[in-house]
Amino acid sequence: MISPLMMQHGKTKSRIRDLFEYGLRQAAIVGKENVFDYSLGNPSVPSPPEIADTIRDLMSMEPLALHGYTPASGAKEAKEAVAADLRRRTGDDIGPENIFFTCGAAPALISVMRALAVEDAEILLLAPYFSEYPVFAATNGMKPVVVPADTRDFQLHADQVEPYITAHTQAVIVNSPNNPSGVVYSRKALEELGAVLTRKSEEYGHPIYIIADEPYRELTYDGEDAPYIPAIYPNTVICYSYSKSLSMPGERIGYVCVPNCAADSADLYAAVAGAARTLGHVCAPSLMQRVISLSTQLRPDMASYDRNRMRLYLDLTDMGFRCIKPKGAFYMLVEAPDGNSEAFSDKAKEKNLLLVPADGFGCPGFVRLSTCVSYDMILRSLPAFRALAAEYGL
Ligand code: PLP
Repeated sequence: MISPLMMQHGKTKSRIRDLFEYGLRQAAIVGKENVFDYSLGNPSVPSPPEIADTIRDLMSMEPLALHGYTPASGAKEAKEAVAADLRRRTGDDIGPENIFFTCGAAPALISVMRALAVEDAEILLLAPYFSEYPVFAATNGMKPVVVPADTRDFQLHADQVEPYITAHTQAVIVNSPNNPSGVVYSRKALEELGAVLTRKSEEYGHPIYIIADEPYRELTYDGEDAPYIPAIYPNTVICYSYSKSLSMPGERIGYVCVPNCAADSADLYAAVAGAARTLGHVCAPSLMQRVISLSTQLRPDMASYDRNRMRLYLDLTDMGFRCIKPKGAFYMLVEAPDGNSEAFSDKAKEKNLLLVPADGFGCPGFVRLSTCVSYDMILRSLPAFRALAAEYGL
């Protein structure tokens, strides 16, 4: 017998994929240049050229060594390179024994969830959240508990999180810069969350971990910086990915970092390794581990993302839409003028504007735009946005 639950997960496409595939079909009818697809978060800035150079150089290596298995946690040199980079940036005493290479942030998150999935475990998802979290949590032993968004500023407000913490709360996922809002949580907000979690951990007699989901860590604007959370709240585990920062989402490379300051650090690291093993993880791609070990100094080129962000933010605001100004990542939330995000997305779709209703991100009433698109497409799409604004009487 086939698992109905897995079948359901396999058959229900995300709204993002749905719209993206609609866009491809529509392009065949009206022409590619007349479809304005803001659905997918696929980086639009190419990887730094050094990545291709490094891959080319690595190709001269002895193939058995190059393509062979590495230890499950990653090759020692690769872990050392990542640890050295984190030490340099944060001053924390990160070593190779704190790093576990994964095939991107998604399996990193699932491994950490499974590592903390004791009986009746709950995990807090701070809306708006990455739409895969509820599936990841619910199918990996964690009951997802949603903390609603504060739609005034989309910041993290510890006093709004506190009522959702129970004796079963094992972790809170903190995703900053945030997908889908582009908001970067302030140091003060994180300190206040840390204080609440410290108090609640003492009250319930077990650590409540922050799972810092940070694929957009380096993608910030206006001089904004995403604070290093373990220095604010020690019981933090980091899930990182090179999918966005180095524009390598198809190469599937990232890591879990369990810093020494996290409670029961060595045991938690062992549990992450055990959880990865149960998922069939053997090792992260060995070629990509080598690439990363030679590329930790590379940073994304933010200029074109920033140009896209400001163009959309300024023009859409000018048209009368309420937009949340992104300070990081490459997404922007726009409020549906009448509060109905599904209808807003449908009306936009009639104009070949593909905007994702943010309901799936725990944020009804808003749509998400991926701003990692071509600048030309943005310019071509502006008349359609204007027509949409006119339809709503803005
Ligand atoms: N977390 C967030 C917030 C994301 O936006 C994404 C991808 O879009 C992921 C995790 C998964 O990233 P990866 O491609 O590294 O698995």
